[in-house]
Amino acid sequence: MTSQPAAAHAATTEDFIRNLAAVNQRIAAACAAAGREAGSVRLLPVTKTIGTERLALAIAAGVDTLGENKVQEAHGKYEHFREDFPHLRYAIIGPLQTNKAKFVAQFADEFHALDSLKLAETLQRRLELEDRTLEVFIQVNTSGEESKSGILASEAAGLLASLAPLDRLTPVGLMTMAANTNDEQQVRGNFASLRQTLEQLQQNAPQGFEHLSMGMSGDYELAIAEGATVVRVGQGIFGARNYA
Ligand SMILES: *Cc1c(COP(=O)(O)O)cnc(C)c1O
Repeated sequence: MTSQPAAAHAATTEDFIRNLAAVNQRIAAACAAAGREAGSVRLLPVTKTIGTERLALAIAAGVDTLGENKVQEAHGKYEHFREDFPHLRYAIIGPLQTNKAKFVAQFADEFHALDSLKLAETLQRRLELEDRTLEVFIQVNTSGEESKSGILASEAAGLLASLAPLDRLTPVGLMTMAANTNDEQQVRGNFASLRQTLEQLQQNAPQGFEHLSMGMSGDYELAIAEGATVVRVGQGIFGARNYA
């Protein structure tokens, strides 16, 4: 792996300012190495398992989007912060059961793990009721690992086409998680295959379908080398995650 997966535990706003600057600097360096513009990659902070007290410090340090993989947890943070920080964005990055779509429709701005038409249709109905819209990324399983969600690359064109009538969903790109391995070639290959899938889809894709959400704390530099436009980084900002 090219990245240090976890930063030192961040416990003050100064810690967060420093860690965010360090990640942003590495993003800029990876962009430069790939001949890409520094502003072409967005850092999406992944805040799962981080409590609201530490999150408030991170928000003071400039975090403006919360990346969460569990809807209930994300919704709780939304309830906590909605008054003080009405402009905070919420990105749901983990797989979603259709019975939780109603919560996502209430507060989320982005959903990175769309993997079925049934889920898309449920989200559409719920978004209509809330009079909201949602940016969506189709998740593709590029590693073949069974533990990973996502559809096959060969299914992406069909799913994307079937989203066309669902006017509350704005398809913005593809998302993947690379194989869980130290083999850089394999990880990079997964990212490259997502980029190739996007390139194929773009001939028939709606305008703005141009993003690649790929790369986490341990592999975001490889993802940027392969064209990532959104990197989802948790431990590189907050320190090692504590699931307890
Ligand atoms: C947890 C998570 C991340 C971030 O992982 P880190 O190792 O903390 O950077 C990125 N994407 C998804 C889908 C996740 O669940």
